[in-house]
Amino acid sequence: MERFQPRGRPQGNPPVEKPYAFVPLPQGAARRQPPIGHHQYRDNLLTGTLEGIITARSPVHVASGQLELTNKQPSLVQAHFRRAGQPTLPGSSLKGAIRSIVEAIARPPACLRVTRARRHQQPQQARACDDKTNLCVACQMFGAMGYLGQIHVHDAVLSTGEMAIITIPSLFAPRDREGLYFIDGQVRGRKFYRHGTLARGSVPIEACTVGAQFRLRVDFTNLSAAQLGLLLIAMGQGTPALHPKLGGAKPACCGSVAIHTTGLHVLSARDAALEYDTVTQALEIAPLTQVITLVNQEALAQLAQILAYPGDTACPGGTY
Ligand SMILES: [Zn+2]
Repeated sequence: MERFQPRGRPQGNPPVEKPYAFVPLPQGAARRQPPIGHHQYRDNLLTGTLEGIITARSPVHVASGQLELTNKQPSLVQAHFRRAGQPTLPGSSLKGAIRSIVEAIARPPACLRVTRARRHQQPQQARACDDKTNLCVACQMFGAMGYLGQIHVHDAVLSTGEMAIITIPSLFAPRDREGLYFIDGQVRGRKFYRHGTLARGSVPIEACTVGAQFRLRVDFTNLSAAQLGLLLIAMGQGTPALHPKLGGAKPACCGSVAIHTTGLHVLSARDAALEYDTVTQALEIAPLTQVITLVNQEALAQLAQILAYPGDTACPGGTY
């Protein structure tokens, strides 16, 4: 007698653990207010620069969108992004990774912008801000249609370490809205990939090797201490610590990074308006990570669990 076997999975093997999990969307609507703008520096707000080092804990790959012809095997490789010939983490990728965390942990709730869910699949109260004069905290900080955000993340150029060619499984073409977390046709959470053991496969990509370092610089204009606290916590500087992931091939466990901040400098409102002769003042980072008035502690705890490092996920080499 023939026995029934579920298709695609060898008999007796448990289902593969998913390399991601969801932070549920918070209850309640995104809270919006008129953004503060950039044109006038405010005395009671913070304008300055945050600097640091990004260290790769697993290979990090940000696709350049180009296939590179090598003179060895493999001959065609998905190249890493470069700026002026230097391997670089584009500011836009960094910003996207940090923004997705800010959106997940903000209180009152931020709108849902970093998502692959279609608009009609998003709960009404979470839909992206569409009025530039009335924005949620994430849109104020990172920008929205027609509004330049108050945070500018620079491209982070490789300072130490090397690039290498690694091979990953071929399952990572965008699969549209599969793997989203729906209840009654509405997306119910924000998706984050766990850290874990690198999956190997047959697709060659260029990635920076573990230990490679990139120089981080973030400029900010007119942030409140609470917004700066939210930013620092999203960048992994708070407690519980978040360990971000960025770039491509995250399901294969690429993209684990550690951010180490090295300095925070602010200008006085008077100096910020000047183009020269500015005097900066160093601010201590640790006390700012205690300013948690814009942080949803429950969401932070949930995300810290998903982004725990080192993770124990064995990233899947096949369909998951
Ligand atoms: Zn928004």
